[in-house]
Amino acid sequence: MTTLAILNPANGQLITTLPADDTGTVAAKAAAARAAQPAWAAVPLAQRKTCIEKFRAGVVRDLESLATTMTRETGKPIRMSRNELNGLLGRIDFFLIQTDLVLATETVFDDSGMKEQIQHIPLGLVANISAWNYPWFVGCNVIVPALLTGNAVLYKPSEYAAMTGLEITRLLHEAGVPRDVMACLVGAGEVGSALLAQKIDGVFFTGSVATGRRIAQAVGGRFIKLQLELGGKDPTYVADDADPKAAAESLADGAMYNIGQSCCSVERIYVHEKIHDAFVAAFVDTVRTFKTGDPMSEDTYIGAITRAPQLDVLDAQVADARAKGAILLAGGARNPGPGHWYQPTVLANVDHTMELMREESFGPIIGIQKVSSDAQAVQLMNDTAYGLTAGVYTPDEARARAVLSQVNAGSAYWNCCDRVSPRLPWSGHGDSGVGLTLSTYGIETFTRPKAWHLRRA
Ligand code: NAD
Repeated sequence: MTTLAILNPANGQLITTLPADDTGTVAAKAAAARAAQPAWAAVPLAQRKTCIEKFRAGVVRDLESLATTMTRETGKPIRMSRNELNGLLGRIDFFLIQTDLVLATETVFDDSGMKEQIQHIPLGLVANISAWNYPWFVGCNVIVPALLTGNAVLYKPSEYAAMTGLEITRLLHEAGVPRDVMACLVGAGEVGSALLAQKIDGVFFTGSVATGRRIAQAVGGRFIKLQLELGGKDPTYVADDADPKAAAESLADGAMYNIGQSCCSVERIYVHEKIHDAFVAAFVDTVRTFKTGDPMSEDTYIGAITRAPQLDVLDAQVADARAKGAILLAGGARNPGPGHWYQPTVLANVDHTMELMREESFGPIIGIQKVSSDAQAVQLMNDTAYGLTAGVYTPDEARARAVLSQVNAGSAYWNCCDRVSPRLPWSGHGDSGVGLTLSTYGIETFTRPKAWHLRRA
């Protein structure tokens, strides 16, 4: 039997060994899901909503054990695991309220002879291939609206969050979603690859640019819906009229929360020269208060790095930046094991010749660059292949809007960062991907419009 070993990144110990899927079980689950989907789509929406309400209640009931599972397998500090689960509840509520509106058939023309309507029907069988960094968020951003709109879901959680993936699936089954309608596939990339080989009607992927490219190539000629939520190199500009201390405290959290392993982590900071030194001093002071430790401890802010290979990426970015003249102000190295640990790291005197300012870090390291004008900040913020989020700190809304309207990003932040709202579309440009989740658009995306031309005889 194929298996998947689950290791705790905080201590390197084996947590469990899970039975994993192979090409045979993937094909069987796909065939069963396809067969089961029409009956699920025929279930009245009110009943599908009842299942999701029960799922929500299950999350609330089991929240502490679900948080512990997530923390053990990802290294995420326990308080942040609870935050993710509590944040999920608001997302579920949004989907529950909005799906009726999105699915309502629209009459767009009606006269004595002719009626025209748009009906929103499910895509059919959708694949959700997911990341580990916010496994409840990125999993449920797809699974919940896809199920509510009448789709069957084949869900391949990350191999670094497979226990959480199985918990999501268990709670949905307990809540009444038929087993064949919602199936979990356990395994690494080859299981994802086997899933893509099935007859599916849509692929919803969250993960790295490199895997996103592979997936786009794998399904390219099949004309099925493809959504890719990929990485970012999210910039923030701190203007000269900003409060340097308040901006530094907010942005240090935006850069280091979840050990910097967020798609919308602040990855680059540009600070106006007039307040640069005050900002940098306050930023380093804030970072020094971040406590590294056992992810299960209540006061831990910096937990373990989830994937060991990322340590090499962080080391290489720090070494490259220092070799090119960056000044190291905090951290800059791994902490000793067992487990995978990296010190919160701050580098100043950086520029765009450095990998640190161009490639996703996905860890607790940040470069802060001095700029002399809004125009220079815009030019540097746009000097990237990514386009997920961008922010400006200034008391002047018009100034922030003027800067952010020139920046290529799916989400624009004024005096905030590292923020996702269920009410707003979550999307990226360029290498940050295609398509979107969340908002009413992120419900509609699991449907296709059917046009009805109705002539009265
Ligand atoms: P990853 O690309 O390594 O893996 C993502 C998923 O793809 C996993 O489930 C993996 O098993 C699967 N996979 C790997 N190879 C595959 C293949 N050939 N075919 C099919 N599936 C395959 O990414 P990760 O390390 O899990 O996630 C980190 C990345 O995700 C970061 O770049 C981060 O920015 C990005 N991310 C983006 C968003 C967003 O909303 N834009 C949200 C979270 C994470």
